[in-house]
Amino acid sequence: MRPELSDYNHLSAGKVRELYEIDDHHLLMVATDRISAYDHVLTPEIPDKGRILTAMSVYFFDNIDFPNHLAGPADDPRIPEEVLGRALVVKRLEMLPFECVARGYLTGSGLAEYQQHGSVCGVQLPDGLVESSQLPEPIFTPATKAELGDHDENVPFSTVSSRLGERRAKELRDATLRIYTEATRLAEAKGIILADTKFEFGLDADGNLVLADEVLTPDSSRYWPAESYRPGDVQPSFDKQYVRNWLISPKSGWDKSSDTPPPALPGSVVEATRNRYIEAYERLSGERFCYWVGDCR
Ligand code: ATP
Ligand code: MG
Repeated sequence: MRPELSDYNHLSAGKVRELYEIDDHHLLMVATDRISAYDHVLTPEIPDKGRILTAMSVYFFDNIDFPNHLAGPADDPRIPEEVLGRALVVKRLEMLPFECVARGYLTGSGLAEYQQHGSVCGVQLPDGLVESSQLPEPIFTPATKAELGDHDENVPFSTVSSRLGERRAKELRDATLRIYTEATRLAEAKGIILADTKFEFGLDADGNLVLADEVLTPDSSRYWPAESYRPGDVQPSFDKQYVRNWLISPKSGWDKSSDTPPPALPGSVVEATRNRYIEAYERLSGERFCYWVGDCR
């Protein structure tokens, strides 16, 4: 008999995921079908999103050569039936308070910073780069984790080293760039560009660095189809750009700068978003997404 979710102590709720305590050394990380954009949780949910993103994280944990926090298989008996397929048993770690971002291409907040300062997080970049330009080499652009409802803030490397010490900071930077490079090769082989991604690391009881959280999902990464890549333009991506574009289009009737919550997504936008998440998973992993949990056992 599997436990009930209510058997576990609920530790925290993020915009997208819920954390439960299994015991002193293990947590249950549950991905919901919620989707957030522009710091709002949207309605309705995207059916199967939690299972698609969980499958993607597992695929990359299995294929990236770095110690990670997985503490059991996707059908671990400690996972309650009601969240099977979208929950993972993980080692409970002491999380480091930085979002470890690696960028191989310039877009989003990196591009904005470059246009203002010619650098990103203190890393000087050559002149003449444009939207979506590939960088001469991948760069580490850490950010501090914001409290719920606030924006993450890009910080220079020196902020990481003064908080964690030079050695740990360098270890984080090296690990972030190494894992990013490994993941770009996996994606490249499937015709996909991994433009940037965010990792979170924690420390185990012996002080070893462990890759935690979700990894290399469309919620934490920008994936672009390689066949249509054109520097100078915003790339069509496999993340929630589709949803963002709809929200800021006249069709939604929403004013992003207002305090009002965004309107409900129409069925067609929900469906298209779901299909993009499934396509990203299937192209990257080379696996079929199982539509029924029973198929995955
Ligand atoms: P949001 O993503 O909504 O801004 P959040 O990052 O706090 O907020 P989630 O991403 O939904 O929330 O929840 C995951 C939480 O679990 C994060 O705070 C993350 O740092 C933490 N976490 C991930 N892996 C582990 C682990 N192995 N041990 C302890 N905490 C973890
Ligand atoms: Mg998070």
